[in-house]
Amino acid sequence: MFADLHLHTKFSDGTYTPEELVAQAQFHKLSAIALTDHDTVEGCSRAAAACAAAGIEFIPGSELTSEHDDIEVHILAYFVDTTNAAFLTEIAKFQTARQNRIREMCAKLNAIGIGLQAEEVFTLASCHSPGRPHVARALVAGKHCRSLDVAFDRFLKKDRPAYVPKFKMSAAHAIELIHQAGGLAVMAHPALNHTDEIIPAIVAAGLDGIEVFHTKHGPNANHRYMDFAKKFNLLVTGGSDCHGMSKGRPLIGTVKLHLDYVEKMKAKAKK
Ligand code: AMP
Ligand code: ZN
Ligand code: FE
Ligand code: FE
Repeated sequence: MFADLHLHTKFSDGTYTPEELVAQAQFHKLSAIALTDHDTVEGCSRAAAACAAAGIEFIPGSELTSEHDDIEVHILAYFVDTTNAAFLTEIAKFQTARQNRIREMCAKLNAIGIGLQAEEVFTLASCHSPGRPHVARALVAGKHCRSLDVAFDRFLKKDRPAYVPKFKMSAAHAIELIHQAGGLAVMAHPALNHTDEIIPAIVAAGLDGIEVFHTKHGPNANHRYMDFAKKFNLLVTGGSDCHGMSKGRPLIGTVKLHLDYVEKMKAKAKK
């Protein structure tokens, strides 16, 4: 009886459709999953329908890109009301910022003689929440680069000619937004963003939980963040951060969260 609470689809930078993701969840015998596409909940209704048909519990979610003291911190939203107007209006602003960022990246590419148009990226991405991986895929599709790695190394990494920083909301704002939509706010993969020193401040802003179990967390990180969870009375979550085929092999089911933790989340979400 396990859950995977960190999953992406085509509605952000993953490669699976919601239906393909749920089929994979079924294959891996997961009892519950959450969809956490970046800055969007677009895929949640389809994932919910597919989960209902497959007998899998579905938790609507998102992964909001935020920052605190110039440190990037990803805040996972769980059990949000995906029809909440204020929530949708606010995240739409960040989707627009993502689209404008794609235009800026293409302008920078054009300035150095790479003829990639933003429309090509939007067509390929066909979602409201595009990011650098879509630009990389468009560069490969347009034969400007041999591979995604080359696209990042030559153009898209920080300090490369087409890099444009992402527009981020404050972590406190992300948490507030999630709460007003009835959800739980969870700090994603703390080891990846080196956010340890800001954890107390994020807790003070109302954080509900911390992602202890994650693909890129080794046993040391698991212990370390379990201790943080105890110290600050935070819910414990976990997930694979599966992006389908876009980051090597599909990771769904490789990080298994016991359902006891999901029950604790549900109890807090109800309050
Ligand atoms: P963004 O959020 O738009 O800045 O894009 C960040 C995404 O690009 C993350 O999901 C990274 O995993 C991905 N990424 C970063 N570097 C690479 C790379 N060298 N090859 C493929 N994907 C990458
Ligand atoms: Zn992603
Ligand atoms: Fe993340
Ligand atoms: Fe993620």
